[in-house]
Amino acid sequence: MRQIFLNEDRYQYDIHSLFKAFYPSEDVKVTITADGEISTDLTDYYIVNYKYQDDSRLEGIIEMSLIRGDETALFQAQFCDSEDGKKNSASTSGASVDTCKNALKKLIYRALSKETGKDLPWGNLTGIRPTRIAMNLVDKGKSDEEIYDFMKNTYFVSDEKIDVSTRIARHEKEILKSIDYENGYSLYLGIPFCPTTCLYCSFTSYPIGAFKNIVDDYISCLEKEIDYVASEFAGKTLDTVYIGGGTPTTLEPHQMERLIGYMNEKLDMSHVKEFTVESGRPDSITRDKLRTMKKMGVSRISVNPQTMKDETLKLIGRRHTVAEFVDSYKMAREEGFDNINMDIILGLPLETSKDVAYTMERIAELAPDDLTVHSLAIKRGSRLAEILHEKELKGEISLKGADVINNTEEMMRIASEGAKNMGLVPYYLYRQKNISGNFENTGYAKPDKAGIYNILINEEVQSIIALGAGTVTKRVYGYDGRIERCDNVKDVKLYMDQIDEMIDRKRRLFE
Ligand code: SF4
Repeated sequence: MRQIFLNEDRYQYDIHSLFKAFYPSEDVKVTITADGEISTDLTDYYIVNYKYQDDSRLEGIIEMSLIRGDETALFQAQFCDSEDGKKNSASTSGASVDTCKNALKKLIYRALSKETGKDLPWGNLTGIRPTRIAMNLVDKGKSDEEIYDFMKNTYFVSDEKIDVSTRIARHEKEILKSIDYENGYSLYLGIPFCPTTCLYCSFTSYPIGAFKNIVDDYISCLEKEIDYVASEFAGKTLDTVYIGGGTPTTLEPHQMERLIGYMNEKLDMSHVKEFTVESGRPDSITRDKLRTMKKMGVSRISVNPQTMKDETLKLIGRRHTVAEFVDSYKMAREEGFDNINMDIILGLPLETSKDVAYTMERIAELAPDDLTVHSLAIKRGSRLAEILHEKELKGEISLKGADVINNTEEMMRIASEGAKNMGLVPYYLYRQKNISGNFENTGYAKPDKAGIYNILINEEVQSIIALGAGTVTKRVYGYDGRIERCDNVKDVKLYMDQIDEMIDRKRRLFE
């Protein structure tokens, strides 16, 4: 375990995240010690102290001590959060002083990098949207060189990640040019049912077999929410619609027709630039459903292999084979879908770089328009990790002693080169919460097929109204970029029981 003693509750979360990035498989504990009292059984630990120059707390130093038994290594950094102080120090020393937050993160990064001998591709960035930094700089008219210098000197980001962030930011900017996103809105509908529950699932998902009797009532609740949207956003432009889940294609064709038909009737869909329905699980796709979606105006779908290795699909609880995936994909093409996304996951249990290369080769044969590469970290104690260990004990598989199965830099490189060879360019990227190591998810697409909704939600530039159990609505205030959220409860039955309250929450958010 890594234990850090901190003399006040300031940037505690950033400190925790940065330690976790360097020590992904260890527990990290940050303890506030306002009185300076250190109490621990560990011989190795860390102390971080803020020391202010005066009561304004705008200037001072940060000290970080690495205690190793009887030995202590001390690191220090100066900070200044006042504009005047920064100007003074720049005029006397020639160098500008960092803000408290930047100075702290640089200090910890340097100390831990020295301790571990490691550099992290994303440097000391701990947020989930690193491309927003490049995006802000692009907005200010900065050149690629200026963006490079800033991301390198402030956050120690690797050359490769700076390059991809800058390219994504410029590409996103180009795509968003054609949308008056500040005056419009997007709509998300969640269908929380799936054919079976994948063992790695972290979403709201209920097996359709046991829940099919409530689906019609669930759609009625979505219709109530659509009524609210129709009245609250009348006169505003609806830019994109995204039906996700779960697996929306667990709905029967007549249920899809009912739901989309209701939207078409109540909302002005005439300006919608992109209408996506996740059809993720091939075992939920039928020709009838594809035809219904096409007829109802769906322009983009997702058919997800996750991997092209049958043994892995079985191991992770997906109830379809690679051959079934290929059939579903081809059926979607036959039914006229010309914008199909595929999701794959890196770091699946027992998969090697060779498996990832094989998956990329098989995917290239199908030429998707859009490919999203997800990273999976299987954590100790998770349901999937426990099931894998049980299988190992029974002699069914061998984990070779690994208790955490991670993707690797090499796998990420194979995936990004594979996407490039298919003519796909990266257009959005986000990192996972509680990042362990260097994980990120990247969306690649043909230049004219990038998912607009993905960009809008990732860059948080537009209000997205989310309907259904376990969804989160975001209100983006155009004038200052402030964001407020409200959520719908996750439990599907509770959501249905409390549908009026769910709508009231949105009403209050948009008052
Ligand atoms: S298809 Fe997606 S939402 Fe459904 S169980 Fe699998 S991971 Fe979860």
